[in-house]
Formats: sequence, structure tokens, C-alpha cells
Amino acid sequence: MSAPTSFFGHDPTSLRTWCADHGLPGFAADQIIDWVYTKGVSDPAAMSNLSKDHRMLIAETLPILEGSEARRQVASDGTRKLLLEWPDGSGRAASTETVLIPAETRRTACVSSQIGCPVRCTFCASGMEGLDGNLTASRIVEQAWRLGQLGDGRVTNVVFMGMGEPLANFSAVAGAITTLNAPWGLGIGARRITVSTVGLPKAIRRLIAFPIPVTLALSLHAPEDALRRQLIPWAQFATIGEILAACSDYFEATGREITLEYLLLRGVNDRVHHAKQLAEIATTLRCNINLIRYNAVEGLPFERPLDEDVHAFQATLRSRRINVHIRASRGRDITAACGQLRRETAVQVTREGGDGESPAEAKPG
Ligand code: SF4
Repeated sequence: MSAPTSFFGHDPTSLRTWCADHGLPGFAADQIIDWVYTKGVSDPAAMSNLSKDHRMLIAETLPILEGSEARRQVASDGTRKLLLEWPDGSGRAASTETVLIPAETRRTACVSSQIGCPVRCTFCASGMEGLDGNLTASRIVEQAWRLGQLGDGRVTNVVFMGMGEPLANFSAVAGAITTLNAPWGLGIGARRITVSTVGLPKAIRRLIAFPIPVTLALSLHAPEDALRRQLIPWAQFATIGEILAACSDYFEATGREITLEYLLLRGVNDRVHHAKQLAEIATTLRCNINLIRYNAVEGLPFERPLDEDVHAFQATLRSRRINVHIRASRGRDITAACGQLRRETAVQVTREGGDGESPAEAKPG
């Protein structure tokens, strides 16, 4: 494996090696880690217990932050969304979104795992233009760290529910989880880290072998295969039955109840008969269900469900003793849907006559 090229890709061991290779004492690794993770300092010049020469060396050779903040939105409910740009080595940059959702005692970081998304769900802004690349473990951790610097208090939870299919970028996501969970890193408990997937059975089984038992969320969104394939193109690769079997194995191995995510789309999957089918699925698995109201995306043909339909859907499930919650909509007065800010920014740059070099215009292949 090649050496990390930026701070957030390191663990204490590799950082000590980096220090040794660059003429710094081994304990400098612990000092740098303390500055960044404990004190929230990313500017080497402020790391006052390191010598001036060492601070300069770090500034020149060990980037702490790789991304730059292109846009920030703050919603009236405190939700904050960042559009981050990542250099790709060719002079261009690709962008991803990351969101901080404060709620009572929790501060949840919703991070992206890929640039764009290969799954191309028909209702999703992130999937509209396909995949433009993977994020490294370091860039995933950086998102959570940046969000931890906003406002009061540290990030308490991380959900892989931003752009991308996390299990399609398994190694980077696993590396990021290791740092997010580590006591020397962000120290976030495994239970408070959620990986959300459209359901890749092989990768779910790979996650069983991963030593940190995170919470697994399955983006189901339809209670039968034909409808699911219309909404989620990758549903063609595995049936609901095959995915549920892998989820059951995950529960058996980790003891972690599975969360079924169900995005309600008006008139598409929000009828009472869909709820009855979903209830049947839910009785085959140790799970809870999160109902999510769709946030409309310009250019996509889906609508937000009516409140009465959402409540009827929930009541149908509850009458069958299913543990179901309606997820509160957050950040509705900013571009709430995943991928929307990135897309909106790209559209704006195009309308304003971008010169083709703009990061916001970077197009997926
Ligand atoms: S909903 Fe998730 S998996 Fe589907 S296209 Fe959007 S980011 Fe990808």
C-alpha cells in the first residue's frame, strides 16, 4: 500500500514513520495528531510545541486539509451544508457535499464516499450524472473533521448517506471508519457510524468480516423487485431476497439491527398496499424502518408525498407492529436533497459562462 499523501490518511504508526523519514522525532506524530484531532488546528504554523523548521516542513510536505470550501449553506434549523472541492492533480477539481445535522444532543455528519454516484437512482440529484471518481479515506475523514469545526461541540455520529454508494468504495470507506472510530482520531463509537447502501450482498458480507461493527442501513425504497429496479438501476444486480439474506447474516454476526430506509415518492411507492408489502419484508428481519419524505429536485419527475399519505403509510406499518419512524426533514430552506447544491452550483457556473476550467463544471465520465 502506498504511503498516505495527506494527514487524514495517516494513523499514528504511519505518521511516526513519516516523521522519522522527514527528520522529526517520533513524539512529533502524537503532537500533530493532538493538534488536529483534539485541538481542531489545521494550520501547522499554529502548532506551537513544534519547532519553526518542523512547522514549515509540515506546511510544505504534509497537507492537513486537501479540500477547499467552495460554498456553505446554513438552514434555519441549524443544518449546515458544505460544498467541498478536491484537486484531482490535473488542475481541475471535483466537488462533493457534506452536511452537519444538529439535533438535541447529537451532531451528525453526513459524508460523501464518492464524487457523484454510479448507482444513478432515478430520484436522486447525486446520481444524475453518474460517477466522477472515488474519495480516499483521507478525504472522507476530512469531511467529518471539517464539520466538527462548525458551531459548538464535536461530531457525535457519522452517516455515509451523502453522495456515492459507500460499499462500492469499500477500502476507502473501511479506512475512514477506522480513523473515525479510533480513540486517537474522532473517537466515534461503531454504533454511531452508519453505512447506508442500496444493497450489495457480497460487500455486505465483506463488512461482516470488518472488525468495527457499524450500523447498516439498507436503502430499500420499494417493497418489490420490479418497482425497485425502476427506481434504483443497481437493483438489477440483486433481488430484495438476496439482499435481505445478506442483511440477516450481518445481524447474526454483529447483533446490529438493520435500518430499512424507505424514501416516499408521491403516488409511486407511498400507497397503503406498498406499506403492507413492506411490513411483510420487515417481519423477516430484525430491523427498524425510517420513512423519508422526498425533497423535490428540479428536473426530476418525482414529488414530495402528501402528509396524510405519509401518516397512513406509517399507521399501516405500526398496525402490524413494525418499529417505524418518519425522519424529520432537515435543512428544507437550503438545497436539502443530496447532490442538489453541487448540481445547482454547476448549473450556475454554466449559466454565468464558466470557462471550462471551473471545478464546478467537472463532469463525470
Ligand atoms: S440515492 Fe444514493 S445510491 Fe442512489 S444515486 Fe443517490 S447517492 Fe447514489
